Amino acid sequence: MADLEYRVIIGLEIHVHLRTATKMFCGCELVYDQQANSRVCPVCLGLPGALPVMNKKAFEYAVLAGLALNCEISRFTKWDRKGYYYPDLPKNYQITQYDLPFSEHGYVEIPTDDGQVKKIRITRAHLEEDAGKNTHTSGNYSRVDLNRAGTPLLEIVTEPDMNSGSEVRVMAVELQRIVRYLGISDADMQKGHMRFEPNVNLIIIKDGKEYRTPIVEIKNLNSFRALERSVNYEVVRQLEEFDRTACVMVKGNKTTRGWDDAGQQTVLQRGKEEASDYRYFPDPDILPVVVTDEWFEEIRGRLCELPLKKQMRYMAEYNLSEYDAGVLTSERTNAEFFERVVKAGGEPKRVCNLITQVGLKIANERGCSLAELGLKEVDIVTLARMIGNGDISSSAGDKVIHEMIVSRKEPEQIIRELNLIQKSNAGELVTFVDAVLAENAKAVADVRSGGKKSKAAIGFLLGQVIRRTKGQANPEIVSDILNKKLN
Ligand code: ZN
Ligand code: MN
Repeated sequence: MADLEYRVIIGLEIHVHLRTATKMFCGCELVYDQQANSRVCPVCLGLPGALPVMNKKAFEYAVLAGLALNCEISRFTKWDRKGYYYPDLPKNYQITQYDLPFSEHGYVEIPTDDGQVKKIRITRAHLEEDAGKNTHTSGNYSRVDLNRAGTPLLEIVTEPDMNSGSEVRVMAVELQRIVRYLGISDADMQKGHMRFEPNVNLIIIKDGKEYRTPIVEIKNLNSFRALERSVNYEVVRQLEEFDRTACVMVKGNKTTRGWDDAGQQTVLQRGKEEASDYRYFPDPDILPVVVTDEWFEEIRGRLCELPLKKQMRYMAEYNLSEYDAGVLTSERTNAEFFERVVKAGGEPKRVCNLITQVGLKIANERGCSLAELGLKEVDIVTLARMIGNGDISSSAGDKVIHEMIVSRKEPEQIIRELNLIQKSNAGELVTFVDAVLAENAKAVADVRSGGKKSKAAIGFLLGQVIRRTKGQANPEIVSDILNKKLN
């Protein structure tokens, strides 16, 4: 088994809750963590005679997502009923889009390990409504909460273009960034705003022949970690199963498995239904949607630069590392704040350090965005310039921006009050250096010996000088003086 040559093939189905004020086909408020069954009405309860009405905003959000996923947007789309019986589905059918989804044939670009991008093709994206929620507690009964029933749900289906658990994870993270950038979903995993269902199988090469293992769909994963781990688990399980049974993919042997987080394994659930089992048919209660040119252009006008493009632009234009650019672009408002500071004249790398190392940390603690910290763009520009000029050290810069957020004072005032101006005057610093050299004959000897200890010793002496100046000495200048004196 260990020496089998194989390739992993993964397609992904993603469900995303759209952030609208009300549900997909009724006026019930969309809220989380409210009393069970407090946000329901005849429509989402499926009472006889109730008529659904499409949420226009949800449709616009979905089209915006379709555009961001580079899909062809259909100008005519209709609604279908997908029939199945389950306690959390009071109508006994789900309103969805079967043969005429609003968008098809797109792609998403994801970053690869070697700094390139890979295209993952999107088969289709359609709109539907979510079901309610069953809670299985103790006792021989379950609770049903229908507050979630009717939540607008964007379903995205990819082609089987991913080849590892980590790649699926990257794709999922990228989709999360995209829907957040578009402002169409909070995509909060904890609240179940995003759920993943990977389809996994392997192509195994044995004795020059290719074998495909049966496809397994892993249901309802609600964290990136579970997504990656369940796929990795499936790869090993399928290899082992092939080795044992030589079972290969044939029509109808696709199965569904769940992820057991405690046991860190996938567990067989059932054979997969065919589309015919769902008895799809057009919903006679809802009109098809026709997207006019005018409406289409209006929605397209809301597109923005997408996160990966932005991240790569930051790397090219501002010479930032992939990591820094990733942190800055992880949220759109933060990226926009950064861009405003740079536009106001801030040196990008220094601005990045200031706002990611201190600003973002405080913003996270306060649960707000960078822009909401009350920082003025020009103040950050000033601070970055003072660090660049060597007026203050970069560690002092961190102190200053922290203080700017807490006290809302201007940087010059804080620097004065905290006495942070760096001593860069060589004449003044020589006195400190001489004193330190006189007191540390051993370290001086170590440096002059040029041996292994020399590097550590010079670091030690530098530290001593900076300490003597209460952290105000400019380390570069002290370094120069030390080198001159000791060589
Ligand atoms: Zn309702
Ligand atoms: Mn679905």
